[in-house]
Amino acid sequence: MREFDFIAIGGGSGGIATMNRAAEYGAKTAVIEGKQLGGTCVNIGCVPKKIMWYAAQISEAIHKYGPDYGFATGEHKVDFPTLLKNREAYIERSRNSYAAGFERRNVEVIEGHARFVDNHTVEVNGEKIRAKHILIATGAKPVRPHIPGSELGDVSDTFFEWQELPKKVAVVGAGYIAIELAGVLHNLGVDTHLFVRYDSPLRKYDTIIVDGIMQEIEKDGPTLHTHARPKAVEKNADGTLSLHLKDGSTEIVDKIIWAIGRTANIDGLNIEATDVKVSDKGFIIVDEYENSSVDGIYAVGDVNGKKMLTPVAIAAGRRLSERLFNNKPTEKLDYANIPTVVFSHPPIGTIGLTEKEAVEAHGEDKVKVYQSSFASMYTAVTSHRQQVKMKLVCVGENEKVIGLHGIGYGVDEMIQGFAVAIKMGATKTDFDNTVAIHPTGAEEFVTMR
Ligand code: FAD
Ligand code: NDP
Repeated sequence: MREFDFIAIGGGSGGIATMNRAAEYGAKTAVIEGKQLGGTCVNIGCVPKKIMWYAAQISEAIHKYGPDYGFATGEHKVDFPTLLKNREAYIERSRNSYAAGFERRNVEVIEGHARFVDNHTVEVNGEKIRAKHILIATGAKPVRPHIPGSELGDVSDTFFEWQELPKKVAVVGAGYIAIELAGVLHNLGVDTHLFVRYDSPLRKYDTIIVDGIMQEIEKDGPTLHTHARPKAVEKNADGTLSLHLKDGSTEIVDKIIWAIGRTANIDGLNIEATDVKVSDKGFIIVDEYENSSVDGIYAVGDVNGKKMLTPVAIAAGRRLSERLFNNKPTEKLDYANIPTVVFSHPPIGTIGLTEKEAVEAHGEDKVKVYQSSFASMYTAVTSHRQQVKMKLVCVGENEKVIGLHGIGYGVDEMIQGFAVAIKMGATKTDFDNTVAIHPTGAEEFVTMR
């Protein structure tokens, strides 16, 4: 039986970062991966999604803005096989770089599906492996609705297997994946219909974001269906799909994408062989140090359900290794003020509390809000003017900035630095004392009155 100091079940963002960091401190480590190194983010998540988003941005530039900048119009259609070929080649290079990193640090890679035998032992390909510390980093998987025919639709995993673009697609859901994939498909020329259960997508975001995305969707698409609840899916003789809704209406499309959330991926892990506690929703329960209910078993990343973002899985895992192997007993990830971007069209960036959350937490009289709305300069010379909307949520006498929200061209690349400022406790006066960079969209964040 092989023995290690620390093993990760799952070679995605969390597992890789945690083992690399532990190995740098001399721990004998291994990553066990059942599918492909890199996990969701690299293979079927952030990376291919961002490449598709860039492709959609290029298409948008050509079709929407190009003509008014004096570029010739005409039939510009994406050559999908070329896009796929280059996307997959890039992903392959990323995977290879992980393997090289493991080799440099002496992290062993074990290919195969791991299942627990007991609290300190797992089994892979019939071999038992023991470790003093075991990290569960098995990620999450997409959820499908419990309605007849839901298996006829795709999820984000299978969306990335498409070899050609369909003519008409229904995207069902109201979160990150629904809004991102609907935006990509729409801008690549697919007749895209977005179905949400309530009044809008992203309804829990700050009102300025919801207003902004609704304004763009109403102006430019995709076609939005609100209060739309799927009832069943049927396959038609011509291969199309009928999406039947509870209100009695039906939409006939070539493909359906379910984007209604993700749940912990603990399939086949035989977690029952351990004393690890799992929540009602299926996530591994961990404390603020990512300890599970069993001494020596930890969980980071999507599988613990705290915040399903790649940099969160990486940051939590690295801190765990610092705690276990670098003599830093209090090291842990602070989950407050995590910045995040939705790669919509236009992109959305958000840090900290929404205005509503701030008022709930601090009371209306303590909260002051600054906001701004202007036509993005990139689009201002065209007939497709895109509004940028920004908000700062401040609290207390010194107006500490506790929320920053923006939607518009370039917002995705604007907010990382502001996240540093907010993490450091910046106030509105600190923002005001910062000289603007002109002409940019970002300067609005430091010139609001
Ligand atoms: P994963 O990356 O999912 O890795 C888990 C790994 O464990 C997988 O490789 C799996 O094969 C393996 N595994 C599972 N069970 C076993 C087992 N029993 N034995 C061996 N191996 C096993 N986040 C962002 O920050 N920015 C984005 O732009 C972004 N875009 C996304 C787009 C999409 C479409 C999706 C689906 C997600 C996106 N995310 C994004 C979220 C991000 O991908 C995840 O938060 C991140 O991948 C979580 O990392 P992880 O290590 O927890 O899990
Ligand atoms: P999300 O949780 O973001 O959104 C799913 C939404 O779908 C829900 O909020 C809900 O909104 C709606 N929904 C839920 N059930 C149903 C149903 N039965 N029918 C119709 N709609 C339903 O999940 P995603 O799958 O979009 O993404 C999973 C996670 O992956 C994200 O939360 C994020 O952490 C991560 N991710 C990050 C990205 C990034 O960083 N850019 C990109 C993609 C994913 P409502 O209640 O309003 O109906």
